[in-house]
Amino acid sequence: MTNKVELEGKTFEIYLSDQAILKEIQRVATKINMKHKSTKPLFISVLNGAFMFTSDLLKKIEVQCEISFVKLSSYDGMNSSGEVKQLVGLNTDISNRHIIIIEDIVDTGLTMKMLLEKLQNMNPASIEIATLLLKPEALKERIEVDYICFEIPEKFVVGYGLDLNGFGRNLPHIYQIK
Ligand code: IMP
Repeated sequence: MTNKVELEGKTFEIYLSDQAILKEIQRVATKINMKHKSTKPLFISVLNGAFMFTSDLLKKIEVQCEISFVKLSSYDGMNSSGEVKQLVGLNTDISNRHIIIIEDIVDTGLTMKMLLEKLQNMNPASIEIATLLLKPEALKERIEVDYICFEIPEKFVVGYGLDLNGFGRNLPHIYQIK
């Protein structure tokens, strides 16, 4: 295992190994399997960051389910304030469905709040959130996160899908900034 990585001139140290990550994913998957035995949930994975987490989590889901992938992109032109995002890629009707959002990290919670509002307007039966990481000290929005693999301090992390300026997503472990 590489203990240190350099990305964009910054040094990162190993924080969570792939083995530790998989163990927590199994714990969360077991909870979802128990709760969603007969709900046929629709997982909504938020790209790009959640791609590795989604893959490992879904391999451990044993109930009948569907998966859809979405992206939150900034509007072009007039609305490009950086705050207003549009939801792209959702081509499944979510009305009356039990939704489980899959996110890589909930930091301030602003992104999740925006996503929740958009999905709630589409009349799902229920919405739950599964996140790999949560930074409790950074939270600015009151959001109920149903499944959390790790609560971590307010420090920048990369790897296992998470990036710094697009780099580091391929790393199998999670690294914390030094
Ligand atoms: P929020 O809206 O502040 O909750 O931020 C959520 C998004 O910010 C995540 O989906 C990530 O893309 C990004 N982000 C927040 N913290 C980190 C981090 O430590 N490493 C990499 N990306 C992060």
